Amino acid sequence: MKIGFIGLGNMGAPMALNLVKAGHEVTGYDAAGVTVEGVANATSGAEAATGADVVITMLPNGAILQSVAAEVIPTMPKGSVLLDCSTVDVDSARAVSDQARENGLDALDAPVSGGIGGAAAGTLTFMVGGSEAAFATAKPLFEIMGQKAVHCGPSGNGQAAKICNNMILGVTMIATCEAFALADKLGLDRQAMFDVVSTSSGASWSINAYCPAPGIGPQSPSDNDYKPGFAADLMLKDLRLSQQAAASADADTPMGQLAETLYQTFVETEEGSGKDFSAMLPRFSTRSRT
Ligand code: NAD
Repeated sequence: MKIGFIGLGNMGAPMALNLVKAGHEVTGYDAAGVTVEGVANATSGAEAATGADVVITMLPNGAILQSVAAEVIPTMPKGSVLLDCSTVDVDSARAVSDQARENGLDALDAPVSGGIGGAAAGTLTFMVGGSEAAFATAKPLFEIMGQKAVHCGPSGNGQAAKICNNMILGVTMIATCEAFALADKLGLDRQAMFDVVSTSSGASWSINAYCPAPGIGPQSPSDNDYKPGFAADLMLKDLRLSQQAAASADADTPMGQLAETLYQTFVETEEGSGKDFSAMLPRFSTRSRT
């Protein structure tokens, strides 16, 4: 396929490289002038999108996505697909897909889980909103860049699935970290805590696969001095999106709201910025109840 790729950052660059390695013709553009070996270099988003069967975007937020979409949609051939893999708010995703359809194109919102490692290894999971036809067009690309793509329904539902998942993740990580800090103060050995909880009803991905206590459970960022991994800043971004969506849909999400507040405090006033989101454990360990 002829693919335009806009946003060649930490995630986009390795995803574009995997498409090139699989034999696709990829033209890329990044506002910071990033280039990727094997990817033809365009001087604007519109140039990267011209004549493409599929245009992939991997951008920081919904406002940037909307401005890039407004630029590229008029240059894309009728019937082509705009495939956004960024994590953005549901309303931006739906606005972009409406605009694409009004111009005779199709659109998918397909945020990913799996991080930079998954992008490089081609093992991302895609959560996809949009039409069956567009999903079928993009499926071979999902199979190159990822290991799984779940079609979640109409436009915006991919972003909805992503932020609901990450709201659960933020809440369970905080619960796991505060429980470890409590266990420490009660004199419970961390290994014993892990052995019990990881096989009991308190189990979750946060403790079983990504244990925030160093030296316990499988390798995770806690074993690497809490270098990300998945940065607390990105967790804060996703929690903010979840609360924006909850406000827009009038949903009561008190745990998500508290998780957003805690990550905001951690990132903005407690030197959590740039650390992995599991660094909530040392944060709780140094605190007392008052
Ligand atoms: P990044 O900041 O490394 O990359 C974004 C790129 O977009 C940058 O290179 C930037 O120069 C470029 N850009 C910004 N404005 C542009 C414009 N107008 N035109 C063209 N290029 C432009 O971010 P990332 O880590 O690659 O993340 C990208 C998206 O994926 C985000 O929405 C993020 O939330 C999501 N995501 C990231 C991870 C992760 O672990 N990094 C995991 C899952 C999802």
